[in-house]
Amino acid sequence: MTKNAYKNIRDAYHNKDWTKIQTLSQIDAIHHPKEPNLEILNIILTALGKKVTRSSALGKKVTTLYSKTTLSDLDVGRTLGHGIFGIVLLVRHKSTREVMALKVMSKKTIKKHKLEDQIRKEIAIHSSLEHPNIITYYTTFEDEDKIFILLEYAPLGDLYKLLGQKIKLDEGTLSKYIIQVVEALQYLHKRNVVHRDIKPENVLLFLDGTVKLTDFGFAIEIKPGEKITKQVGTLDYLSPEIVEGRSYDHTTDIWSLGVMIYELATGKAPFEDIISRQKTYRNISQVNYTLPTHLSLELQDLIEKILVKEPTKRLSLEGILAHKWIIG
Ligand code: AMP
Repeated sequence: MTKNAYKNIRDAYHNKDWTKIQTLSQIDAIHHPKEPNLEILNIILTALGKKVTRSSALGKKVTTLYSKTTLSDLDVGRTLGHGIFGIVLLVRHKSTREVMALKVMSKKTIKKHKLEDQIRKEIAIHSSLEHPNIITYYTTFEDEDKIFILLEYAPLGDLYKLLGQKIKLDEGTLSKYIIQVVEALQYLHKRNVVHRDIKPENVLLFLDGTVKLTDFGFAIEIKPGEKITKQVGTLDYLSPEIVEGRSYDHTTDIWSLGVMIYELATGKAPFEDIISRQKTYRNISQVNYTLPTHLSLELQDLIEKILVKEPTKRLSLEGILAHKWIIG
């Protein structure tokens, strides 16, 4: 594909002008341009100069439009990613031509791991959410052996992939992403939803610099003031209260956010011990990590105020938004 053709397709995608996009492989080219990664990097860098615009995006209308969608309404493209219990595919709606992501889970695997309740919760929670920094849920359908969840598509994939491509995020860009994740968390916590799996893989990136939170597979709705005891989440991002088997609440998400900020700024998770899980547990429990001196003093201060063992002394989401690293 020539650079010009690529640019036209990219603009059509950006403007949601689906009629100009003929094939799924053209969408693929947005995600995996034949041009070097510099092209993607440029898109990101261009986005940085701009104020992040909040696409009110698809909201309720589109949710209604796609609520009766089934597999036969979709053209299926390549695999976008792998979750713990399934894959996510690139798909396009045959009549509207809108490009979306389809999460596919095998019923056999769900049954084997007794995940029925968890999937039911994921669908119930995600389908009730509507926020500019949360991936829009469209619908769920099933066939004989699979469950499908149809979602808004994020063309630049997840933030973990950025880390993998060694695209170094400068602190200005990172802070723009973090503000949006914090706003998504404020929305969730106000609704008494705890995400419980905040990590770079679950933050998806759009062409205009918008980021959106996804994967509500571990999310739980609690009563105000209620504490949870079940240990769930991803090892490197677990809070000390979870690691130590104590009860916990929404402040566990703030800890994981602190871990994610550290990782995105340095390329390495703060408590990870690649050889021993036990050592990682111990590092988390003892809050044993070092702050590289190449981080700005403001960012070091923010991380230190978030990665606080005692959950009630941890910086709040409002405190993060008011911190000097965020407000500049
Ligand atoms: P999940 O099963 O939700 O954890 O998704 C697994 C991976 O698939 C993620 O880490 C992303 O790389 C990719 N992915 C999931 N949802 C989307 C989406 N809506 N748009 C683009 N990529 C996605």
